[in-house]
Amino acid sequence: MFSRTIIFMNYNKMQGSSLTFFILLFTLAGCSKPESPAPETIATAVEPPVGELNEDVAPVHYRLELRIDPREQRFSGRTGIDITIDSPTDAIWLHGNGLDVTEVGLTDSNGNTVGASYSQELDSGVALVTLAEPVVGSATLDFTYSAPFNTGANALFRIERGDDRYAATQFEATAAREVFPGFDDPGFKVTFDLTLVTRSEDVAITTTPESSAEDAGDGFTRRVFETTRPMPTYLLAFAVGPYDVVDYGMIPANNIRDREVRLRALTAKGLAPRVEYALENTDGILTELEEYFGTPYPYRKLDIIAVPESFGGAMENIGAITYDEWLLLMDEDSPVDQRRAYTSVHAHELAHQWFGNLVTPAWWNDIWLNESFATWMAAKAAHGYWPEGEFDRNILKGALGAMDNDSLASARQIREPVIRNEAIDDAFDGITYRKGGGVLQMLERYIGAESFRAGIRLHLDRHADGVATAEDFIESIAEGSDRTEIEQAFKTYIEQPGVPLLGVALDCNNPASPALDVTQSRYAPLGSQIDANASRWHIPMCVSYVTGGARKSQCSLLSERRQTIRLEAESCPTAVHPNADGAGYYRFSLDDSGWRQLIDSASSMPAAEALVFADSLDAAFRKGLLDSDTYVAGLAALVSHQTWDVADAATTYLEELTNVLDPDDLSTAEAAFRRMVGPRFAALAEPTDAGSALLRQRMLRFMIVMAKDEDMRAPLAEQAAARIGLDGQPDPDAAPASELETILSVGVQDIGEPFFDRLLEQAIASEDPQFRQSATGALARVEDPELVAKLQDVLMARSFKGTEALSIVFRQMARTATTEVTYTWIIENQAEVFEMIPASFRARVVPRLGGSFCSFERADEWEAFVQSHAETIPGYERTLAQSLESVRLCAGLKEAKAGELLTALADYET
Ligand SMILES: [Zn+2]
Repeated sequence: MFSRTIIFMNYNKMQGSSLTFFILLFTLAGCSKPESPAPETIATAVEPPVGELNEDVAPVHYRLELRIDPREQRFSGRTGIDITIDSPTDAIWLHGNGLDVTEVGLTDSNGNTVGASYSQELDSGVALVTLAEPVVGSATLDFTYSAPFNTGANALFRIERGDDRYAATQFEATAAREVFPGFDDPGFKVTFDLTLVTRSEDVAITTTPESSAEDAGDGFTRRVFETTRPMPTYLLAFAVGPYDVVDYGMIPANNIRDREVRLRALTAKGLAPRVEYALENTDGILTELEEYFGTPYPYRKLDIIAVPESFGGAMENIGAITYDEWLLLMDEDSPVDQRRAYTSVHAHELAHQWFGNLVTPAWWNDIWLNESFATWMAAKAAHGYWPEGEFDRNILKGALGAMDNDSLASARQIREPVIRNEAIDDAFDGITYRKGGGVLQMLERYIGAESFRAGIRLHLDRHADGVATAEDFIESIAEGSDRTEIEQAFKTYIEQPGVPLLGVALDCNNPASPALDVTQSRYAPLGSQIDANASRWHIPMCVSYVTGGARKSQCSLLSERRQTIRLEAESCPTAVHPNADGAGYYRFSLDDSGWRQLIDSASSMPAAEALVFADSLDAAFRKGLLDSDTYVAGLAALVSHQTWDVADAATTYLEELTNVLDPDDLSTAEAAFRRMVGPRFAALAEPTDAGSALLRQRMLRFMIVMAKDEDMRAPLAEQAAARIGLDGQPDPDAAPASELETILSVGVQDIGEPFFDRLLEQAIASEDPQFRQSATGALARVEDPELVAKLQDVLMARSFKGTEALSIVFRQMARTATTEVTYTWIIENQAEVFEMIPASFRARVVPRLGGSFCSFERADEWEAFVQSHAETIPGYERTLAQSLESVRLCAGLKEAKAGELLTALADYET
């Protein structure tokens, strides 16, 4: 999945935490008791499995029939599962969550019926079928059941849009068990026969093409779909309702694939014209992937679905990929940001069709194989397809974005054991996606792109239609590339948490043979409990430097705590950069002259090296190794960098500094920001390419929101008023889509109530995903206490859709002006606020609501508050630990550095 991680990450400093899926809380009393006859014997079963199911009983094939009418509150189904039982048993553990099972039966290999009963045993959806007598060998389980539609954009959920009702699904990680009884672990990969009974006028699609349809009476049609390839439960998908279907026709065969693939899109009624761009660009991205893998797209058809309710990302379901509308629906005015998001997310989901779908992790501890790989591969495919989109630094930026989370004592490792169902969702975080992507990129660079690809292709050949573990993957890469030494590097990166910190000093005592003295430790910011010397990595380290007037780079594999690297230079080099091309997943620190040299050359550094330099500079400041003057000077130099994302990264670091300043001191910082960023912004008046357009969009927001440039606000307020038609009809041309959120924010803050009311009304009524996104973002920036209260009432009334309300709450918490008032509201309305968060998100979201504080007292209070509600959010522990640790690190940095930093900002002169 392209996770909810990315969507919410921006609103919280806890980068890398993700909001994924959490199991609905059904008490046992709420679970159905079967009406089937009670068995004669009591099951001799041991304790219920809290995590992975035992493989003694395994599915072989499913027959699934679902009756789905989104106008109703419930759906119903029949499930037949052919199974094999290794040794005689009268107890079969499987999954089912909140299902009202009315009939259950088992037929053994002789065709005899065995009495059976069904009961849900754990809230996480672990269920038990108890048999009247022990059974062994082949058998078939049959269930008849019904269940409610989910209301939290998870499992099988219904969507209201105007008078229309739609249904869609999101199963990963553990929600398939809310829709049918089964063996809902990724390691069970089998074939499915699927049947949907729906209203005849509704569209009904799933994983495979429809093979036949017949009248089912009462205005319903029974649609039978082709048998699937082997697949796990979490990759199934269904969509039912009055969707528009755009049949794009056949993606033609190519030199890798000798057959055509039918491509269609589904949108909410009336939105079909907006999906044209997404359809037109699919073939190109798919072809990039096929050429890389050397094997064809594995499935018979490809549907892309713009789900009419934000579920927070996209999901790689086999043959029926789902997306938030914003990612698929565009028109000619759509900003380049949105097109880039579409391209990289689409490439990510398509990459999963091989990595995740064709080859599936054996268990959730290896979900990084899916997500690291898809993240890494998406950047490669997107860059290949659209080079001007500048996706080539995406992996690096993602990896740098994961490092703050990876600097916590409570950080996960990429491959973290998953013992309990409740911990599965923890695995969908920035460490899995972004650090994992960075580690793959580092190893690819070290062994070479061709060799790495040979390993990938070997892996797909070996495990197609099956499952694989991390060991299998590493073995494939090592054998395919003939580079066995990388196995240890892989393991030190995936099996321990943390960011390596390389202390690097240039030794030119013998000028004819210059060397680098390198020491490794684990990065730990000021106030951290991490033991910096308890970890050691095998690090592919590449350095660049200038010698004899030429730029040169060289690589070595560091395995010792301290090592000397002889440079291939005949005189003392200059501008030594310890992370050439930014390919290595590590931070570095330098002595004063080393930092000074890099700051002096920062504005002309290659972009990737400038990005890692900015990160290491920031990390050194947060570790207390660098004074504020040097830090501020370094960021200012990077603001001047010509590459858009380097300048953008520098302003992001500036923005984060405001977290450690007192609200009373913000005006000093704002003035410094105007001096630092104003000239660079002014030079962007006429963007000449995609990069400068993106930078202008971001810097406009920075100048308005962070630098509080008053002179710029009045004309923007006028644009905002015209855009929403404050005194007449809305004028869509009054504000460019790329700047809409910033412009509307000025309207909210400077015009006040009439503007706020009108925008609120339009945001709720709009079916335009781009407008909704901009409008909700702007509404979240409201500061007037009366309007904040009004917004809170609207949130409580559940007037926003899907994940929008949640994004507003996070933004209100993250902004200094509204943190306290939002915090009070959350505490006073605990039950209602928890209820606002989809049950499937709750354990991962609630703890992070308090992640924006920067105070020891608030951390203690928040800890007590969350723990007092622990029972309602099982699985919250790691997220809370990470949130609190971030808050306390921020508080420690504030105590140590706020005064010095404020002086450095006040003294800053261009
Ligand atoms: Zn993914």
